Amino acid sequence: MLYFPLQDIDAAKLNINDPEHLRIHSLETFGTQDGPGIRMVVFVQGCQFRCLYCHNPDSIDVKGGSLVEITELVKRAVREKNYFGTEGGVTVSGGEPLLQRSKLTSFFKLLHQQGINTCLDSNGRLNTPEVHHLLEYTDLLLLDVKHIDNEWHLKLTGQSNKNTLDLAAYREQSGKRMWLRYVLVPGWTDQPEYIEQWARYFTNYKTVDRVEIIPFHQLGMHKWAMMGMEYPLRNTPTPSVEIKQMAKGIFDRYFENVVLK
Ligand code: SF4
Repeated sequence: MLYFPLQDIDAAKLNINDPEHLRIHSLETFGTQDGPGIRMVVFVQGCQFRCLYCHNPDSIDVKGGSLVEITELVKRAVREKNYFGTEGGVTVSGGEPLLQRSKLTSFFKLLHQQGINTCLDSNGRLNTPEVHHLLEYTDLLLLDVKHIDNEWHLKLTGQSNKNTLDLAAYREQSGKRMWLRYVLVPGWTDQPEYIEQWARYFTNYKTVDRVEIIPFHQLGMHKWAMMGMEYPLRNTPTPSVEIKQMAKGIFDRYFENVVLK
């Protein structure tokens, strides 16, 4: 995979409310971790969650990043289209994409006009008509459900899980595909009873065709330090083989397609 510095794209210094520009953090080409196939991944800027384990804390500030023309991003995607094959396409991740929902709807419409598959990686922070409109143009939703217990979710992210669960229900009734994602963090999300509760909650969803377990890692630690922020999970270990097998074993009982990343 390749990361392009933002200077490499036509970053315009324009007002954030300009509907023709997305505020982005970075771009990745040939991404294989966020959705099916080979993908161009647009990491947008801004997030209202405050996950203790955030590995991209520099993507949280809604005024950070750079403003980039949506049409420029579409042109880049078209140039890479041959590499996408039948499964790949463009994923928008973050930060939290739903904060720029209307602009992303325009972006996804333009990608569809070019025959490019669209994927949205979201924490489900918002559940509004504008978000529903965006989901119409989202071929695959990657929804991060960070904890099934609301108190734990609040402690872990600073926000309730209500909108996330409501958005999952909305996606389910729309009949369009989604993958659910679960970050496995020792001491925070590895309680077997809550993993079981999470799995039972979604087991009858027909639109969930994959569950991804993402083991916590420490790769973002230096970013917290660079930003002069105290990293709350600095002493948290990565999950052991036993913890990963335990979690996978529970999810496997409830879902046909569970992937441990
Ligand atoms: S939702 Fe993602 S970007 Fe936002 S704080 Fe959590 S990990 Fe970081």
